[in-house]
Amino acid sequence: MMPKNIPLLIILFLFVLLIANPALCQEMLTVGGVTCSSGELKSGFINVPAGSDGPEIRIPITVVNGNKKGPVLALTAGIHGYEYPPILALQRLKEQLDPIKINGAVILVHVVNIPSFLKRTIYYNPHDWKNQNRVFPGIIDGTMTERIAFQITDQVLKQCDYHLDLHCGDGNEDLMTYLYYTETGNPELDNKTMALAINFGFKTIIHVTADPKVQKASMCANASLFMGKPAITVECGKLGRTDEQDIVTILHGCSNILKYLKMIDGKPNLLFDPIWIKKTT
Ligand SMILES: [Zn+2]
Repeated sequence: MMPKNIPLLIILFLFVLLIANPALCQEMLTVGGVTCSSGELKSGFINVPAGSDGPEIRIPITVVNGNKKGPVLALTAGIHGYEYPPILALQRLKEQLDPIKINGAVILVHVVNIPSFLKRTIYYNPHDWKNQNRVFPGIIDGTMTERIAFQITDQVLKQCDYHLDLHCGDGNEDLMTYLYYTETGNPELDNKTMALAINFGFKTIIHVTADPKVQKASMCANASLFMGKPAITVECGKLGRTDEQDIVTILHGCSNILKYLKMIDGKPNLLFDPIWIKKTT
């Protein structure tokens, strides 16, 4: 005999399936002014309050919240506003990420140092002349560069599980492509960070050390590391240029990491055995 109330049974079945398999639903994610349900991609801003040295500013972000559970990956570009290839790579990545297909979530910070970007200053924020990558984790009511760092730490780094900080040679720097692996002395964290560094897929990896006992992270990626989250600093591009090859190389690395973390289908495409450089002068 067929049950009479088939639609009710189907709803009940789906409900039980969802309860039995929590991997099917990802929680709501709020970053700055952007709140994203599972299966959504939204863009908006993180607001940084005004201070004595400048007005309120808005940092452009995109949140891609996948349909299924998985890690939260943060991508930060434009810590230095004259470094264009990472900024352009994130614009393209935003178009490529389909929240329906992603496991976990991706937070894209398009231009952290928006005052530097708008004024085309190298290294420094034109309001307080501080280097954005030397003030993390920031100060809530500090100077503008410190206030920006605080909001990025609070809204982005605290909410992520993995972090890629994307840089290149600044407007005055002719730089080759490489990334930094930072050793902290915590073996479990260092293993995860090393895996992140290898799976980004660059040929040259510079091995540096950071002492968490120092307490002050200074660099953005170190702020994540000091919170126990694997993070690397990537350098690709130079001289204020927007070379297509550099943008493609950064996108390839981000895609490799999304695959390595099983956030999208596929395996990382690693073209090189990396060269590790530990001694720098
Ligand atoms: Zn930089």
